[in-house]
Amino acid sequence: MIEIIPLPAFQDNYIWAITSAQSPWCIVVDPGEASIVEQYLHKTNKHLLAVLITHHHADHTGGLQALKQQWPSLRVIGPAAEAHRIPTLTEQVADLDTLTFAEMALNFHVMAIPGHTAGHIAFYSAPVLFCGDTLFSGGCGRLLEGRFEESAVTMYHSLERLASLPDDTAVYCTHEYTLANLRFAHTVDPTNQALISYQQLCEVKRQNAQATLPSSIGLEKKVNPFLRCKNRDLQLKFKQNTAQALFACLRMAKDQFKS
Ligand SMILES: [Zn+2]
Repeated sequence: MIEIIPLPAFQDNYIWAITSAQSPWCIVVDPGEASIVEQYLHKTNKHLLAVLITHHHADHTGGLQALKQQWPSLRVIGPAAEAHRIPTLTEQVADLDTLTFAEMALNFHVMAIPGHTAGHIAFYSAPVLFCGDTLFSGGCGRLLEGRFEESAVTMYHSLERLASLPDDTAVYCTHEYTLANLRFAHTVDPTNQALISYQQLCEVKRQNAQATLPSSIGLEKKVNPFLRCKNRDLQLKFKQNTAQALFACLRMAKDQFKS
């Protein structure tokens, strides 16, 4: 039985630590900072087996060099398409690859989900998904700068792919952006009762300094406007004829939204 623990970093990042009570091993996802991971390993007396990287941004990779120094045989696994920007990778993976961690009896499937960056990947081990900065709770990642229209199509397809996973899939994204995302979602979809209830629940969690994550695919399909672009009422409201057009329209509106 695996356990997934959030290690808060920077202002609103989570480095996810994957372990189990019986295992001496630990895997971390997107360590933007090494010291937080090292403190956790020290406190729990775990050994770092591998690091999973979803994309090249510094707040996801900044801790790699120090962790690699501390754990010389560490497996550092990340997107082949961004390997030139992540020099510490020891294994490059691409869509449909499978990763095996025999020490923890754990497998991950790699999914290419470009849009936030060109080579962004997710790691999926049913019912758990690590999706970096692609799908957030109540929102989605920003698009590649200067390539908005092309990236909007790419991102829409990536989100569709994630939305096709089973409803009970637990969504572990990298940022605690949920409340800000839900404030925007509420302006898009003000009568959505599932959204209103979820917003109240998340407000209580944040008041108690709890993570709002993981979310689930089933929940996101109800509350996240970026996964609700096929909804005809929303398309009519925003005067868009297709789900893709509504997605681009909402993404642009979110970029300008001041919460
Ligand atoms: Zn990013």
